[in-house]
Amino acid sequence: MRANTRFCKQLLAQRRTFSSTARRLDNYAFIGLGQMGYQMARNLQSKLPPSDTIRLYDINRGAAEKLAQEMSAQQAGGASAHVANSAADASREADTVVTCLPEPQHVKAIYESILKDELPPRPGPRLFIDCSTIDPTSSRVVAAAVDKALPNGQGHFVDAPMSGGVVGATAGTLTFMLGAPDSLVARSEIVLQRMGKRVLHCGPQGAGLAAKLANNYLLAIENIATAEAMNLGARWGLDPKVLASVINVSTGKCWPSEVNNPVPGVVKTAPANRDYQGGFGIGLMRKDLRLAILAAKEADAKLVLADKASEVYETAESEERCKGRDFSVVYRWLGGKE
Ligand code: NAD
Repeated sequence: MRANTRFCKQLLAQRRTFSSTARRLDNYAFIGLGQMGYQMARNLQSKLPPSDTIRLYDINRGAAEKLAQEMSAQQAGGASAHVANSAADASREADTVVTCLPEPQHVKAIYESILKDELPPRPGPRLFIDCSTIDPTSSRVVAAAVDKALPNGQGHFVDAPMSGGVVGATAGTLTFMLGAPDSLVARSEIVLQRMGKRVLHCGPQGAGLAAKLANNYLLAIENIATAEAMNLGARWGLDPKVLASVINVSTGKCWPSEVNNPVPGVVKTAPANRDYQGGFGIGLMRKDLRLAILAAKEADAKLVLADKASEVYETAESEERCKGRDFSVVYRWLGGKE
């Protein structure tokens, strides 16, 4: 009898293992179809088999309808696409939910609406992947709400902010910074690799956002310093191309000096050559800086350059000649020669 009980337990354990590894994760929801989300959802859907389903939701219903039409018109394969009436409607039957929203308050509100009513059980744990750039504390609050609403491992929330911009989202070459426990990395990667080309696991939930904000804080400062140095050199009579070539083999080298140089004519592909159109908007830089400062305060980390940098982006963005342009437009705001 005892042997029989042991056998039954073993069988049950085997079945559990089998069902969690062999089960297909076939229902998806994608919420937030703006500049990034629209392209990411398109890439995700196109790489899923027709037996899978993706439900799309955005408060701008037109965006979801347009995308669903584009997906259905596609020649080869792809998951079947449907427009949902709400975030909760999109998520109810989903194994994997991806969100890509503007600010912390949007992410909190969307998850509140998803978790408000009891979610029916799925064959395995649900995975919620938030790709929005928000602060780590807000992200942890949402993760705790998911844990509470879906206890005993029925659901998990991970953060996966990204870099690569709209160009990377369209081409499917984004880099994701993943904040997740080790046990969820493989499953998260499968989904993220369909929308990007690199997934960097930064640590537990919230760590992806911490890495993203630390990087963007550095970028915010480097961008201003590069604009100042290039302006300084020009006023001292240096040819900007010569100055950039010196910096780019010297210790001042950074992404703004090498790839996104703010002086027109220095790097052919940089937004500075297109009247600072496209690229990484000054408004988004300002937002990321604000979130980095908030997270720094919470961690009691001293930032001596943060307030000045915020002031620079804020005043530059308030001027018509800079508004809505790539953040390297700070060079124009400084009075740099174009
Ligand atoms: P976006 O403003 O273009 O898109 C956001 C979308 O969310 C819009 O379609 C909007 O209608 C929708 N939305 C807003 N509130 C909603 C709600 N309550 N319910 C459903 N939909 C809602 O923003 P984006 O450029 O796509 O950026 C999304 C996120 O990615 C942001 O957090 C941003 O910081 C981050 N990000 C953007 C870039 C970039 O280059 N644009 C790069 C890296 C990271």
